[in-house]
Amino acid sequence: MLIGCPKEIKPQEYRVGLTPHAAAEAIAHGHDVIVEMGAGEGSGFTDDAYRAIGAGVVDTADEVFARADMVVKVKEPQAVERAKLREGQVLFTYLHLAPDPDQTRDLIDSGATAIAYETVTDRDGRLPLLAPMSEVAGKLAPQVGAWTLQKANGGRGVLMGGVPGVGPAKVVVIGGGVVGTQAARVASGMGADVTVLDMSLPRLRQLDDMFRGEFKTSYSSKARTAELVAEADMVIGAVLIPGAAAPKLISRAELSEMKPGAALVDVAIDQGGCFETSKATTHQDPIYEVDGIMHYCVANMPGAVARTSTLALGNATLPYMLRLADLGWRAAMEADEGLLAGLNVHAGKLTNYAVGRALEIDV
Ligand code: NAD
Repeated sequence: MLIGCPKEIKPQEYRVGLTPHAAAEAIAHGHDVIVEMGAGEGSGFTDDAYRAIGAGVVDTADEVFARADMVVKVKEPQAVERAKLREGQVLFTYLHLAPDPDQTRDLIDSGATAIAYETVTDRDGRLPLLAPMSEVAGKLAPQVGAWTLQKANGGRGVLMGGVPGVGPAKVVVIGGGVVGTQAARVASGMGADVTVLDMSLPRLRQLDDMFRGEFKTSYSSKARTAELVAEADMVIGAVLIPGAAAPKLISRAELSEMKPGAALVDVAIDQGGCFETSKATTHQDPIYEVDGIMHYCVANMPGAVARTSTLALGNATLPYMLRLADLGWRAAMEADEGLLAGLNVHAGKLTNYAVGRALEIDV
């Protein structure tokens, strides 16, 4: 099979769908690989690194789309890319179709087979191709929150770990899933006093067993959340209700109960955000203030560490990509229901019920 990887064209997207390491694995499996010139640049991979492992480097995205049997990317195809897709071609990338009727319509019209990273599941029903980006965002959250807390950035001027004789910052993490766990570990590693809130008691038990003593856990009742938020220097929002918009857990009125200059880091902003006053920001202009409280709400946090994110995503997608290439998409999906869950569009039909429900399109 010929596997093709174009350069990402979405603004501020520096990741690449295929690392030289992944390309080398595909070639070792007997496949051919072409990448668009400069595709790996944003993640620190030169064209020569691809050439060195035997991949072809081509001048244009047109050539990648025209020749490849399977196109491997990171972000959903933009309109100009969708116009290049063709019947029978496989597209393997993040799609996020539910809020995107235009993209859905174009993919249906293309006749291509579109497999979405974010709906592939593993045996336990988890999302193995989404998790690495949650791990990255979780580990970044205390780092950007610490920066937001600095006085020159409008924050309280509190150091995460304190110093001998001066106490550490109080950090509250709401949601103890993938993002929340990584955020809590890093914040506590920086020396902060960390409490993780979750509404799932089994999850709190697991966290308590795994991280005994490293951070505290608490049930996220409304009253307890309000109490902890009022004392916090930093609150990290990391909740997820699958398939739904994030619940609003801190109202605007509650900001007045918080310490002036405290930092809110809303990682759940890609699901609408879990604080009433959250609105999506960019890496160029990441923070803003509401009622004296600093907000950081970047919707694509992993883009800040494109190289790490590319490598982490590549590790997760590689075994799936190899199976799709080795067996063909149909046999690969017959052998793995979780991969079948990734199929969103095929041969002019939408094939994902959740997307169909969201967009009122027949599946
Ligand atoms: P996850 O499913 O692993 O964890 C979510 C946790 O939230 C679960 O443990 C759940 O019990 C808990 N929860 C749900 N409602 C709650 C409530 N009211 N109070 C307390 N806890 C509650 O999800 P995840 O992978 O950790 O993702 C968390 C969020 O981060 C998602 O919205 C995801 O889309 C987002 N995310 C954002 C970025 C970014 O760049 N901004 C990157 C990756 C993930």
